[in-house]
Amino acid sequence: MNDLLAPLQMGRRCYSSSVPTTKLFIDGKFVESNTSEWLDIHNPATNEVVGRVPKATQTEMLAAVESCSRTFASWSETSILTRQQIFLRYQQLIKDNIKELARLITLEQGKTLADAEGDVFRGLQVTEHACSITSLMLGETLPSITKDMDTYTYRLPIGVCAGIAPFNFPAMIPLWMFPLGMVCGNTYLMKPSERVPGCTMLLAKLLQDAGIPDGTLNIIHGQHAAVNFICDHPAIKAISFVGSNQAGEYIYERGSKNGKRVQSNMGAKNHGVVMPDANKENTLNQLVGAAFGAAGQRCMALSTAILVGEARDWLPELVERSKALRVNAGDQPGADVGPLISPESRARVEMLIQSGVDEGATLLLDGRNVHVKGYENGNFVGPTILSNVTPEMKCYKEEIFGPVLVVLEADTLDKAISLVNDNPYGNGTAIFTTNGATARKYTHEVEVGQIGVNVPIPVPLPMFSFTGSRGSFRGDMNFYGKQGIQFYTQIKTITSQWKAEDATTKSPAVTMPT
Ligand code: NAD
Repeated sequence: MNDLLAPLQMGRRCYSSSVPTTKLFIDGKFVESNTSEWLDIHNPATNEVVGRVPKATQTEMLAAVESCSRTFASWSETSILTRQQIFLRYQQLIKDNIKELARLITLEQGKTLADAEGDVFRGLQVTEHACSITSLMLGETLPSITKDMDTYTYRLPIGVCAGIAPFNFPAMIPLWMFPLGMVCGNTYLMKPSERVPGCTMLLAKLLQDAGIPDGTLNIIHGQHAAVNFICDHPAIKAISFVGSNQAGEYIYERGSKNGKRVQSNMGAKNHGVVMPDANKENTLNQLVGAAFGAAGQRCMALSTAILVGEARDWLPELVERSKALRVNAGDQPGADVGPLISPESRARVEMLIQSGVDEGATLLLDGRNVHVKGYENGNFVGPTILSNVTPEMKCYKEEIFGPVLVVLEADTLDKAISLVNDNPYGNGTAIFTTNGATARKYTHEVEVGQIGVNVPIPVPLPMFSFTGSRGSFRGDMNFYGKQGIQFYTQIKTITSQWKAEDATTKSPAVTMPT
């Protein structure tokens, strides 16, 4: 455990060979990679190197998938009650270690400690739901479909499954993946984001402490080579991916071509439509929180506001509330907005802000050049608001993934709906109104997979599924909930006939049974 948490004790500014290394998890052991290729892990608030992560070698990746393959036979036959008990212990261990997990997230990812706890908590909820597997995995039966004949189905695991995760939710997204996949009886190969691997390693240690058999979960690290390995290895039957469109579309196509199931959750541009009849106080607070929380690095961030009619007049107050947020390192008391993941990400966000200005948007609040005392080397951008934005502008077309709210205006609800529907993404949206008919019209006409009515970030709880759509999703079955169970299982249908002895057939039937 100490070894895993070593990055927490680090505080140096320059790279040295004594920087702690992230282990691979192969066949139940945390092992040092033999690779010669390593990537640095940085604290985004300081850019200090806090650890190193290996690009696993081909031999190591093969060992990991072979371990998953070998273990599948016994794990898939392990009683469902035993599997359930392990995950019941696991969810308790996650709860017991939530502060440690959150500290690791803040160190490597940068978000505030309170938000990091939320990150763990939302993943924990999926793990808790996975513990209902004894109900979730029930098959169906239909007795007496004809004389003496019954049909029933088994819902069964599919084999080795793999997960490829992004940097922005180091706990929640891996916990959307391996607990559900494994409780169904699959074995699992995880590739966490190379930028934030620490949290996944601690989650693996906790799963080991909960009693999971060696080889059921294996973890490799790396970038493109690891992703290609997962897409190509014939033993891997299904891939769960969350991340950018560039990677997600590639993985969907390469994995599908190789005959695998792929579910691919990707980028977003979520619109919040503000009607003039909305509760102003609540709406402005919710908009500010959902646009700038986690420094805008959430796939469900409300990064685009459409102010309808007189709601335009609320802009000055929106700016005032946004200004009040405190930008600071995630582990500092009172921090509201932490740093972006990397200097490159900060440069990209600043470039997109400037592109908005150059294309004619109005910069109402400029978070560039924010000064954070004691953290001058961090990747900070403060809350930024661009108004008078139009759909042709680059800052509207691209996912910014930073603390930038772009504001458009519309005269009517119909105009707002067509703006949302013309945007290629379909991850999430929200409408703020006190009129039920307006809300109903919006929810029925808007082509987005997850809709909030006076709820700014409508991420469904795990008894439902995460149902992003259009450009935000590729695949047929979504993450967690009923669809998650379908993704990680296959159906076997059995039709059986048990005749009484005196009812033996007299001659062969050559026609199709009806
Ligand atoms: P990313 O695509 O850069 O990385 C995700 C994973 O893919 C990583 O494990 C990485 O190693 C790998 N990868 C990166 N580039 C690749 C490439 N070209 N080919 C193959 N593999 C590659 O994403 P990120 O920057 O870590 O995460 C941010 C993105 O994730 C945003 O676009 C955000 O909207 C999206 N996201 C979506 C959801 C959702 O549920 N829809 C949730 C969280 C994040």
